[in-house]
Amino acid sequence: MTEVLPNFIKNRALLTPDREAIVYKKERLTFKELYEKAYYRAGILTAFGIKDTDYVGFLVKSDLETVLHLFAMQIIGAKAVLLNNRLTAKEMAFQLTDANATFLITEEDFQENALLLKKELEISVFYKEGIEDSSYIEPIEKEQLALDEACTIMYTSGTTGLPKGVIQSYGNHWWSAMGNTLNAGLYEKETWLCAVPLFHISGFSILMRSIIYGMKIVLHDGFNEHKILHDLWEERVTIMSVVTTMLERIEQAANERFPTYFRYMLLGGGPATVELITRCINKGIRVYYSYGMTETSSQIVTLSPEDSIRKIGSAGKALFPAQLRIVNDLGEVLGQNEVGEIKVCGPNVSRGYLNKENHLKDGWFFTGDIGYIDSEGFLYVLDRRSDLIISGGENVYPAEVEAVLTEMEGIREAAVIGVPEEQWGQVPVAFVVADGRVCSEKSIMENCEKSLAKYKIPQRVFFVSEVPRNASGKIVRRDLRKWVEEQKNL
Ligand code: ATP
Ligand code: MG
Repeated sequence: MTEVLPNFIKNRALLTPDREAIVYKKERLTFKELYEKAYYRAGILTAFGIKDTDYVGFLVKSDLETVLHLFAMQIIGAKAVLLNNRLTAKEMAFQLTDANATFLITEEDFQENALLLKKELEISVFYKEGIEDSSYIEPIEKEQLALDEACTIMYTSGTTGLPKGVIQSYGNHWWSAMGNTLNAGLYEKETWLCAVPLFHISGFSILMRSIIYGMKIVLHDGFNEHKILHDLWEERVTIMSVVTTMLERIEQAANERFPTYFRYMLLGGGPATVELITRCINKGIRVYYSYGMTETSSQIVTLSPEDSIRKIGSAGKALFPAQLRIVNDLGEVLGQNEVGEIKVCGPNVSRGYLNKENHLKDGWFFTGDIGYIDSEGFLYVLDRRSDLIISGGENVYPAEVEAVLTEMEGIREAAVIGVPEEQWGQVPVAFVVADGRVCSEKSIMENCEKSLAKYKIPQRVFFVSEVPRNASGKIVRRDLRKWVEEQKNL
């Protein structure tokens, strides 16, 4: 039997109608107001022709109107296909076609791309600004949500190939919210500041937690550390979601210790240094470091603040509802400290991608990331399997070499790939972006000798003006490999 829960947003408005739900700039809404406004938009979208079976593209910014439209989708049960608004029109067209989206909800600032998409795909475009003069038909409200029903489609970043449309069900979001609170607790006056994009799982998951927990959100439409610090005090923020660069900038801009009501930063995406974590602790900023992906509907492995220094470099342990194993190429489970592919399972893990065969093997998702689990059960993520360089039988993790390079004076960014070589099979080569100060290929290689084993040292260093990155800011190594292949005389 399919498990069902009451419609989250409707139920929340029933349970705690007068509790504050969201603050955006000067606007503030209670859960009752949030629900009523979302309900009204559900009626407008119904009149526009959107039904529960439809897949609806969202090309939007992170503002209150977007939140209302996203909740309107949950009232009628239509599926939101969230587009990263930094993608090119071509990339968006790929995702909307793959998702078979028949509608696009957007806003005037994205009109240029919206017009291109309307022309190329047969898609009806609705502008968020247009609700004032739109007609209204009473929406057919979903009283209950089936947990295996799709809620959102979010495409992976496309770091290792074409982006994949991850089906995130209501159950996935529900269990993700449960896993978070079983790990970090829930306070009565919890307030989560969201300055990460709503089209990404890091931002969207905060919306889901808000209606599931009955928790207030302070929504920002972009990242500004000064505005964040202002709201920290003004709105008594207890939690924030950040990536490393955001945390660095917030910590630097904070002139005083964080207030005692501030509980933690949920840090995702990439590693943080001991120095940063120590500076944070000195300012009363506790950090939960996490590992996750679009397929796990937010974090699945988290390092608690009490372990953040002792276990620096580790992503922590699986959240209570989830499990984690390391396997070799044959799929056999490996022991402590043995390096292999990370596989995960749990009710927060997506059951599959759109238009692709089921990707779970006996319920486990193979992440494509490599790592190991230490004797105390802490996970260390090393790199992506597809980026691993094997040189003379030794494993070289580009992430490790890149970390050494970017620490060097004169280097702003670095990307490392493996290239074929006769004697060793593969050797690492580096692409670096200089920060204006003098540095040469020779000095970089000499510097590497101090921190890296010989086989990890890049055999060539290419100076470039920028490192190719996708809309999520991740390095696209296949473009660098292609460039190397095209060069005849390396
Ligand atoms: P694609 O699957 O299309 O190649 P992607 O994997 O970059 O794209 P996302 O789902 O946005 O798309 O990113 C998840 C990936 O980000 C993880 O599989 C992992 O490689 C990386 N990642 C996430 N958290 C961490 C972490 N704490 N440490 C190291 N890597 C991380
Ligand atoms: Mg991925």
